[in-house]
Amino acid sequence: MRTAIVAGNWKMNGNSESINELMGALVDNLQGLDAVETLVCPPAVYLSQVKSLIGNASVALGAQNASQFESGAYTGENAPGMLVDLGCQYVILGHSERRAIFGEKDAEIAAKFAAAIEAGLTPILCVGETLEERESGNTMNVVGSQLKAVLDACGVGSFAKAVIAYEPVWAIGTGKTATPEQAQEVHRAVRAIVAEYDAEIAAGVRILYGGSVNAANAAELFANADVDGGLVGGASLKANDFIAICRAAAQA
Ligand code: PEP
Repeated sequence: MRTAIVAGNWKMNGNSESINELMGALVDNLQGLDAVETLVCPPAVYLSQVKSLIGNASVALGAQNASQFESGAYTGENAPGMLVDLGCQYVILGHSERRAIFGEKDAEIAAKFAAAIEAGLTPILCVGETLEERESGNTMNVVGSQLKAVLDACGVGSFAKAVIAYEPVWAIGTGKTATPEQAQEVHRAVRAIVAEYDAEIAAGVRILYGGSVNAANAAELFANADVDGGLVGGASLKANDFIAICRAAAQA
């Protein structure tokens, strides 16, 4: 039995005032949703503010990125241990925006994944294909090689402490969502790849869907056997939408 997760990726949005408002609504309305783990990932500069707004509420804190290094002369970076120090339990790694805009490659993502595990964070490893890759029939080649790069470098054992997010690049921030069938097909294939390494770990690993999840489409996406919740961008900035998505996951 896998407990669903709904993670909000705020990306580079918000300010102290809007965060106070958003977190106030989430803390008030996400109580008692025991069937789902809820998680918010603010920009790093607001992690402490969000941590104190969470208080004792059952909302977890995650970062959107982490360095592969422990400490030292890496200007502008945040070490995984620093994120733990601020109260983070999760970190998103390999998001398509980091791959496409900041040039992160599989080897660097694998190093960050290993460093995050070592520090005690749960990495949420993002994988996904572009539209061109999907249309040329290469979805599983791309997703499989992104996943295997980390499985081979870090070992399947590390996936007992990790989460995978399937995020088709063409669906992120575009309003175009994968159909439930498209999502389930890739999620099943992702689990099968992990199972080639270790069947028990594959059965337990949570695989989230990300890409224009909203209050209207969440329930049908989360109803799929291999979809264990969502990684939510735009809709996670709107309290009512995010709460509705978390409730859909709790009922799936
Ligand atoms: C994301 O940023 O991971 C994401 C899925 O964004 P959106 O929900 O806005 O498509």
